[in-house]
Amino acid sequence: MARVLLEKVFKRFGPVEAVSNANLEVKDKEFMVFVGPSGCGKTTTLRMIAGLEEVSEGKVYIGDRCVNDVHPKDRDIAMVFQNYALYPHMTVEENMAFGLKLRKFCKSEIKQRVQTASEILGLENLLARKPKQLSGGQRQRVALGRAIVRNPLVFLMDEPLSNLDAKLRVQTRGSLKKLHERLQATIIYVTHDQVEAMTLGDRIVVMNNGTIQQADTPLNSYDTPKNQFVAGFIGSPAMNFIEGNLVRKKDEVIFEASKSPVSITVPNDLKDIVLPHLDKNVTFGIRSEDIFTEDKALKKSIEGATIKVKVDFTELLGSENFAHCTVGENKIVTRYAPHMTLNMNDQLNLTLRLSKMHLFDTKTALAIV
Ligand code: ATP
Repeated sequence: MARVLLEKVFKRFGPVEAVSNANLEVKDKEFMVFVGPSGCGKTTTLRMIAGLEEVSEGKVYIGDRCVNDVHPKDRDIAMVFQNYALYPHMTVEENMAFGLKLRKFCKSEIKQRVQTASEILGLENLLARKPKQLSGGQRQRVALGRAIVRNPLVFLMDEPLSNLDAKLRVQTRGSLKKLHERLQATIIYVTHDQVEAMTLGDRIVVMNNGTIQQADTPLNSYDTPKNQFVAGFIGSPAMNFIEGNLVRKKDEVIFEASKSPVSITVPNDLKDIVLPHLDKNVTFGIRSEDIFTEDKALKKSIEGATIKVKVDFTELLGSENFAHCTVGENKIVTRYAPHMTLNMNDQLNLTLRLSKMHLFDTKTALAIV
């Protein structure tokens, strides 16, 4: 069994707490992605699992064994890094076989393992080539091959696709997903790219400032973020946020923005949930796909709050268009239909689909709705 367990794990570099109280179980055969902005502690967490970095406090388990004091080479893991670190003077075959030779595997076993890995990765015809005769994507596959032949309990991958161009990244992403299915292995994968995280992970761990913010399926992280950080980090364009507070007017609970004339009546079914936050600072959140221009809202009979905004600028991406708008001091990004023409300074009525609204406690940033 190849689960990985972190129990109250801390990593301190002098005064810097790079990882704070990480508690996480990566299940056997799970594809787990660590994602977060630069410096949030992803790589340090991965390196502690690999044994390349000592744990300051807490315990790391691989399988049922606490590995805090186990040397990296005895942890039954294989790492794939961003720079493939292939030996330039060796052929593809020799590169893949090298780790096994060091471990004194017999020749026939090495041959068998290299053959299987090269079949899985489509490298059969490149075995005699040297790294410089390969493309970036092919080199990356050799680096993966070197890990696969080891047959490890756990694969640890640190931004393995970041040297590839955009198109190749998408292709290799697909291959990685298939590879995971084929290998039935536990994979822990680090990236700062939320799209990569969403598309690859069975679950994703969103980190910020050394702390795990949420460990959940991609869909749950997107639909029900636990806090404002996760809400803003996952999804592109980012969720729109409007700061304000909740007030009661007769029977209704109203969100009133503090820096714009936006005023939104909280739907009845959410009233009980939001009532404890009355007269407190809250942040309203809505994703651009839950905002509709007037004609689309009418067509789809969307019910919700309507706000008047001014168009700042537009982005035409072919399949979808985005309008960056302002209302008072708040910024709102919305999608709009390709047939619509929008110009700078146009006034626009937007309908917000309130069944998809989010609300966060501004002070703690925790999700209320
Ligand atoms: P990136 O995406 O930029 O690689 P990351 O999320 O992987 O970032 P880490 O490399 O884990 O972040 O770094 C976490 C924090 O620990 C950062 O503030 C970093 O500066 C600090 N740090 C990492 N390694 C060391 C070290 N050897 N000495 C001191 N501080 C370090």
